[in-house]
Amino acid sequence: MSPALRLQTENTTVQRLRITIRGAVQGVGFRPFVYKLARALGLTGWVNNSSQGVFIEVEGDSENLSQFILRLNEEKPPRSSIHSLESSFLDPLQFEKFEIRESDDSGEKTAIVLPDIAVCSDCLAELADSMDRRYQYPFINCTNCGPRFSIIESLPYDRSNTTMRAFEMCDECRTEFVDPANRRFHAQPNACPRCGPAIEFCKADGGMITRHHDALLAAAQSIRDGKILAFKGLGGFHLIADARSDAAVDELRRRKRREEKPFALMFPSLESVRTECEVTELGKDCWNHPRLRSFYFKKRKYGNQRSRNMYRPATLISERCCHTHRFIIY
Ligand SMILES: [Zn+2]
Ligand SMILES: [Zn+2]
Repeated sequence: MSPALRLQTENTTVQRLRITIRGAVQGVGFRPFVYKLARALGLTGWVNNSSQGVFIEVEGDSENLSQFILRLNEEKPPRSSIHSLESSFLDPLQFEKFEIRESDDSGEKTAIVLPDIAVCSDCLAELADSMDRRYQYPFINCTNCGPRFSIIESLPYDRSNTTMRAFEMCDECRTEFVDPANRRFHAQPNACPRCGPAIEFCKADGGMITRHHDALLAAAQSIRDGKILAFKGLGGFHLIADARSDAAVDELRRRKRREEKPFALMFPSLESVRTECEVTELGKDCWNHPRLRSFYFKKRKYGNQRSRNMYRPATLISERCCHTHRFIIY
């Protein structure tokens, strides 16, 4: 042992800390967060996902270990929540680095599975950027957003346990996936137009007509033409018709045998909702909530005549519904 190293070990107490965290800690960028935090504090060891939660072993001096525990709780990813954190000190094992280890899928499965999370602002910006490689790519996602519950087949939450395992990441996606500084570091559904799923527009009998962005344009046109679109989302089918077309809505009511019950409406922005509904502060919060996508708003007593020409949600609501009726904005 060199004199410098001996001096260091004599003046500091190196300890190993084993931590078990339970809660909503999978699919939220928790392991990358732990990785970055441990590295920032100069700690060595490992983190992995298990069927029960997240396990961590970190080794370093006690001051940095205390900081680690403190910052785990204070700086954890916004979508995560820690229900319990247990820790115990052990003899050091002289880990050489900090690493994310393979998940351990043994034992009872008690980890909390997150719901699907609405697309985040960073991904939205990329989606609209014609220079970005995910420009207009509908399956865009990152550690902070994207599908979780709908794609998970078993725990722990790893790509091999999701429906995304059928799509092998291209070199660029894999580079993002393994880069701790990247927003897609260990983002399990990571994908791009080259390697990920694509949308298709099909005839009623299932025959494919077109793919990719053309499929989206064709689908939009079919709605404008008064047709009813069966949109296969991550968690099932949505039936979509033009809310401004009485004929399309009537046909949807006839086929669904749903004469009166209000349908959900899609609005492009909160401003457009305001033209027809009363939006409270709570409603505004709901609109911006990353996990909520369907809400009830109270219909305005007197609709905006100009906007009525644009949206005409009244056509979706039964004649018997009065202005106090609540309906769903989807
Ligand atoms: Zn995102
Ligand atoms: Zn890719």
